[in-house]
Amino acid sequence: MGFAAIIGQEQEIQIMQNAIREGRIAHAYLFVGGPGSGKKTLARAFASALNCLASPGATPPDGCGVCGSCRKIAGGLHPDVRMVSPEGNALKIEQMRLLQREISYKPYEGEYKVFIIDHAETMTPEAANSLLKVLEDPPEHSVIILLAPSPHAILPTLVSRCLPVRLRLLPTESVARALVERGVDPALANDVAPAALGSLGRGIVLSEGAFAGLQEEAVELIRGMSGHSAAEMIARAASLEKRREEIGLFLEILLSFYRDLLLLGSGKPGSGREERGERLLANQSRLDWLGREAAGYSRESLLFALGAIARTRELLPRNVNVRLALEVLLLQLKNCRRGGSLFSIYAHEEKWHV
Ligand SMILES: [Zn+2]
Repeated sequence: MGFAAIIGQEQEIQIMQNAIREGRIAHAYLFVGGPGSGKKTLARAFASALNCLASPGATPPDGCGVCGSCRKIAGGLHPDVRMVSPEGNALKIEQMRLLQREISYKPYEGEYKVFIIDHAETMTPEAANSLLKVLEDPPEHSVIILLAPSPHAILPTLVSRCLPVRLRLLPTESVARALVERGVDPALANDVAPAALGSLGRGIVLSEGAFAGLQEEAVELIRGMSGHSAAEMIARAASLEKRREEIGLFLEILLSFYRDLLLLGSGKPGSGREERGERLLANQSRLDWLGREAAGYSRESLLFALGAIARTRELLPRNVNVRLALEVLLLQLKNCRRGGSLFSIYAHEEKWHV
């Protein structure tokens, strides 16, 4: 995949293309962006543009995607383009020593040796210092690309030797459009896009994974809120707890629904679409149902529900009793429905830590 297939990073790509055209390629780059922001894809596209056999001197510079070099880079088989990933949970000094040795040789078949260092934030201090030595005296025809979620997680002396490239978050509409172009059902693409938080990679994972099922589960939960007994809510918490890897996404989906209820409930009855905030809804395709549902909540109880979900989401990674946290949350949400009696989620918090 070349630059041409990447969406939303036009300015950053242009900087790299200008550098190639003018022969001013930096020896080290730092690509910064969250998970799924496309750092690896962009790094491979850059490596292709540097080493493409079919289109040297093409305007604008880009990999063709079909020559032997581009195909090897896409498949991770090019001898001059290496991906260095953490071994276990850290990038170790041995890996940087190997890089230091390999980078000193001339490229075997391409124009440039390109080393892509994934999760650069996991470098041990020894590894970072070893890499620093390489960057102090970088060999000709070599490019090192560090990938990290933030520059703050990396040794400042390393950062200062890299050209920073910050990947942008995509607008929700661009994520939805790109998903449809990749064959995702348009209704699912529109539902998934707001939860993708500006990342196409995350959008793809969500549209392939459990999103649709979890969304149905959330709708069913909210729809039956006034009818579910406390025992049912506790059983639901138990079922969710068994699916640990899905809990975070489920809470995000719940958050998006309660946010929509708040938006719909805050307009005056009979006011126009714009005043009702319909344009801002995350779940546009369920507008009618959400509108009816909003009548069952007061503004205060919705604010409380949003706070309770957000708080639970923050607590989960902190070694709390997950089952108890989910039980309390679901009972809280049940109580938020009109007629329920509120009790403080915080009074229970000290019992969550195990
Ligand atoms: Zn090519």
